[in-house]
Amino acid sequence: MSDVIKLLPSHIANQIAAGEVVQRPASVVKELIENSIDAGADKIDLVVKDGGKTLVQVIDNGCGMSDTDARMSFERHATSKIAKADDLFALQTKGFRGEALASIAAIAHVSLKTKLHDAELGTEIINEGSKIVSQEAVMCSNGTSIAVKNLFFNVPARRNFLGKNSTEYRKVLDEFLRIALVHPGLHFTFHHDGEEIYNLPPSNLRQRIVQLYGDAYNERLVPINEETDIVKIYGFITKPNYSKSKPDQSFLFVNNRFFKDRYFNHAIVNAYEGLIASNKYPPYFVYFDVPTQSIDVNVHPTKTEIKFEENQAIYAFLRSAIKQALGQFNVAPTLDFEHESTFTTPALKKGETVKMPEIKVNPDYNPFNTGSSASSSSTKSAGVSGDVKSNGFSQIQPNKQDWENFYGEIEEEKHNEVTVSSSMDVDDEEVLSGETKKPVQIKEKYIMSSVKNGFILIDQYRAHMRILYDDLLGVNDNIQVQQLLFEERMELEKHDLPMWKEIVESINDLGFDCELEGDVLVIKGQPAVAKDQNPVVLIQGIFDTYQHDEQDESVEIKTKLARSIAANAALKGGTVLTIEEMQYIIDALFASSSPQIAPNGKKIIETFTMDEITKRFN
Ligand code: ADP
Ligand code: MG
Repeated sequence: MSDVIKLLPSHIANQIAAGEVVQRPASVVKELIENSIDAGADKIDLVVKDGGKTLVQVIDNGCGMSDTDARMSFERHATSKIAKADDLFALQTKGFRGEALASIAAIAHVSLKTKLHDAELGTEIINEGSKIVSQEAVMCSNGTSIAVKNLFFNVPARRNFLGKNSTEYRKVLDEFLRIALVHPGLHFTFHHDGEEIYNLPPSNLRQRIVQLYGDAYNERLVPINEETDIVKIYGFITKPNYSKSKPDQSFLFVNNRFFKDRYFNHAIVNAYEGLIASNKYPPYFVYFDVPTQSIDVNVHPTKTEIKFEENQAIYAFLRSAIKQALGQFNVAPTLDFEHESTFTTPALKKGETVKMPEIKVNPDYNPFNTGSSASSSSTKSAGVSGDVKSNGFSQIQPNKQDWENFYGEIEEEKHNEVTVSSSMDVDDEEVLSGETKKPVQIKEKYIMSSVKNGFILIDQYRAHMRILYDDLLGVNDNIQVQQLLFEERMELEKHDLPMWKEIVESINDLGFDCELEGDVLVIKGQPAVAKDQNPVVLIQGIFDTYQHDEQDESVEIKTKLARSIAANAALKGGTVLTIEEMQYIIDALFASSSPQIAPNGKKIIETFTMDEITKRFN
């Protein structure tokens, strides 16, 4: 047999390598900005179009490159950062593999302009799919500008794999935030589709967080600052009552590099135990400094996991540092947060473990009591359609119906001499037409209703969700909007703006009356079916639920939104219902498109046949 092994041409090899380095526009953003930082820039501008699919451009005032270096920078394994393997252990730069530019150029149209500070002219290179198309001397400013256009133009499979613009935009933004949070001393700007998203002048860490997330954060932040032999931990956590329904502000950095770590995340969240609900996440910005030898530095450039030698000791130390900070915050809520924390922690030696400190907390402190109507709205009922909608639900009385009534109901049933057949056929029709007696609410969560052949338990929340969902999607044309007496202005996070833009029209189709004014959502009305709810809490809940749902591209926006609205507006467990309300739910449920299954796929009704019940007494 003849020889079959060939060396791949370099542009093909680059394309293959690119698959590892460049997954999406956000990876390009990361590589380019890291190069700018390595080049000593203190002003870095990021310009992105269409979530980065069309353009990612980074302009810096760093050292720039010579003509030859500019050309060399596109070669694989071309780097100015290390010369020998040993250099890896004393690495001061973010890059060192010399792979990024080669990989990016293999799968995009790249134009590079660069000039050394003491040179008169700079150089411009156009590189398309690893081919240098042109190189010429140009007038340009000091530093480097790299524009990466039409990502994956020559790898359609990869291009098709990219998400919607808004999805890619959010990934780009995440990457930008991670970098901006590590370099508060550098000036960054960020433009997307011609709009200025951020302009971040040099500042300190606290100000940088506030620049990124808004002035409100200033008083939410609690500093941490602890040091032992094996690790220095610093940064900010947030007061428990500002925890969020999604963990998108959980930032861990080690030696100025973002990383993800469920173990350390657990240490942090665990320190909040008892202060926040289990489905809430405290924003945090936590930085570790460790000796470079104690972590695995030779990690893959796109990986965000990092291995620590002293994992367990750091876990315990981290958790205790956060408990300390929170404990201090609780006993002294008026603490001046400009002061760094003053308590001392005994130095931790290598291999030593940490004992948890005793925390003094204010027993009256209630993190859920934010004083807004938000906290009370979950126990208030939402209106429902039908007759009850207009009045019934607002007259809810405390109601002690419970198991006593359950027995009472069965007694009553006996008196009524309902025929008990031995087989129960729970088809919806039969339940509907069945002898439905007075329903009973159980544990403020289930509605028990007797039916011909036994009884059923209805999950009140899921049932109401089904009813609202059908209302929202079924009678689209005459969805009733309840105008608010006073419009609500809801400040949105920049991060979420593209998604708000995407859904605001559909939200309005579903009974809201709201509009975007810059990064404020003005709410003027909400669906009549949810008229008793706090509109801001409702709409934030809808947004969060929608975001969870968003990945599923097969489902229409409106359907996903209806699901979110129904899930957020439906009567939660814990809401006491009157007989009429329960009756309404039962009737409306059985008139709905799918009485057995809630829009979230969960079971609504459980049936108990007389057969089963009788067996239990044997
Ligand atoms: P690495 O960063 O791993 O060295 P890259 O492919 O990212 O590899 O970059 C290759 C080389 O190009 C760098 O080592 C650096 O010398 C040069 N370079 C890249 N970007 C810039 C920039 N913005 N300013 C100055 N030099 C740069
Ligand atoms: Mg690099």
